[in-house]
Amino acid sequence: MAIREIRRMGDEVLTKQCKEVTKMTIRTKVLIEDMLDTMYEACGVGLAAPQVGILKRIVVIDIGEGPIVLINPKIIETSGSQTGEEGCLSVPGKAGIVTRPNYVKVKTLNENMEEMILEGEGLLARAFCHEIEHLDGHLYVEKVEGELHDVEPEEE
Ligand code: ZN
Repeated sequence: MAIREIRRMGDEVLTKQCKEVTKMTIRTKVLIEDMLDTMYEACGVGLAAPQVGILKRIVVIDIGEGPIVLINPKIIETSGSQTGEEGCLSVPGKAGIVTRPNYVKVKTLNENMEEMILEGEGLLARAFCHEIEHLDGHLYVEKVEGELHDVEPEEE
C-alpha cells in the first residue's frame, strides 16, 4: 500500500493514450491498490492510472458505495443527460459545469480479468465518463461550459 503522486494538468502523461492490460501481474495488483489508496487519501471519487503516471487502461471509482476497479473499460451504451459540477484530482481546487449522459453502461474487466457489464446513473455515470476519458488523454476541462471556478477543498 502506498500513496502515489497525482499528476497535474500540464503534465504530458495526462495527454497520452493508455495501453490495454493483457494480463494481471503482481505489479498491476500493487498499482490498483496504490490507486485506491491514493484516491481515498485525496478524497476523490475516481482515479485513472495516467493520473499516477502509468499509461495503462485502469480506473478506480468509489462514489461512496464501495470500490469499483475497471480494466480496459468501454462505454457501450449511454442515455439521457445531466449537467452539473465536475472536478478532477489532477486539477485541484477547480470545478466546472459539464454535461454528461445520465445513464452509462460499461463493458470492462475486473481485477480478476473477468468480463463484467456495469451500469451507472447520475454521479456514477459521470465518473465512468470522466475516468474513461483519462485513458484516452482527455481532461474534463475540455468539456467545461463557461469557465473553471475555484472551489473549497471537499470533505468527500
Ligand atoms: Zn480526472
